[in-house]
Amino acid sequence: MMKRLVTLVLAVLLTLTFAACSGGAGSGKVKIGCAIYKFDDTFMTSVRNHISDTAKEKSDVEIEIVDSQNSQATQNDKVDLFITKKVNSLAINPVDRTAAGVILEKAKAKNIPIVFFNKEPLPEDMKKWDKVYYVGARAEESGTMSGEILADYWKKNPSADKNGDGKMQYVMLKGEPGHQDAELRTEYSVKAIQDAGIQVEKLAEDTAMWDRVKGQEKMAAFLAKHGDAIEAVIANNDDMALGAIEALKAAGYFKDGKFMPVVGVDATAPALQALEEGTLLGTVLNDAKNQGKATFMLAYVLGKGETPTKENTGYEITDGKYVWVPYKKILKENINDAK
Ligand code: BGC
Ligand code: CA
Repeated sequence: MMKRLVTLVLAVLLTLTFAACSGGAGSGKVKIGCAIYKFDDTFMTSVRNHISDTAKEKSDVEIEIVDSQNSQATQNDKVDLFITKKVNSLAINPVDRTAAGVILEKAKAKNIPIVFFNKEPLPEDMKKWDKVYYVGARAEESGTMSGEILADYWKKNPSADKNGDGKMQYVMLKGEPGHQDAELRTEYSVKAIQDAGIQVEKLAEDTAMWDRVKGQEKMAAFLAKHGDAIEAVIANNDDMALGAIEALKAAGYFKDGKFMPVVGVDATAPALQALEEGTLLGTVLNDAKNQGKATFMLAYVLGKGETPTKENTGYEITDGKYVWVPYKKILKENINDAK
């Protein structure tokens, strides 16, 4: 009887010890803590899916991806939790890019390497530690490309200058203010049009926070005020461009020969469909696949205690800290480049 009891207790203890070891620290797996600024963002959902798909290809990884719900305070709490759980590396898409410094200090104090992505930390924060990296795309490049798409269209279609004053009257739908992609796309898109020798006049500019519904509302307001005086729509991303297209459709555009050139950025699946339908004039591929893959590979290599290189990640590391994923212009003609 006694002997049986001892065996039973031993068996239970063994099972418990085993359960505690499998998964978590001690499992021999690389533990990665990943936070997205908010799950409810079309482009970031795509990046997130590519991160977890790449993670699934490795048998020695445990990755936890959490939603920061667009709150920096929530994200900071999640980072604290990851640190308590003793993750081997962090992959963070900041809510507020200026908060990267605080997160970095937390990670540095525990010697946990960190990869930021999509919202670029300030250069002074990036310099605070050698185990901090950034994966993203050069915002200016996407701005320039979307401006060039409009400039090309303008030159090929003299009737695009509806009032014939030689100037492009445009409206701008901006992403989140302060986000490098919103600020630089806004600036460089207009600059590219001017650099192509076209004069511009801004009729209206407002932020629609990367959001499709807000894009539609803001565009409806622009149309109510400026109506047919608007000759072009520049949106910092596809979701806002698609919202604008909805508002334009409601105002009678895209039928009976009534057209409005609208450009976006990202090349999301619904945007490619709009390109095919001929409502969206053009977009710029924001390569979610390679941004997700590179983010994962850097966090993985760092989590194993190695230094990321082109050889062990597959991505060129610039200035010892940055992975820059290139953008690409997407028009109906080369739509397959984005698929
Ligand atoms: C994308 C936007 C997205 C934002 C999130 C940008 O690079 O173009 O669609 O909402 O990142 O931070
Ligand atoms: Ca004009």
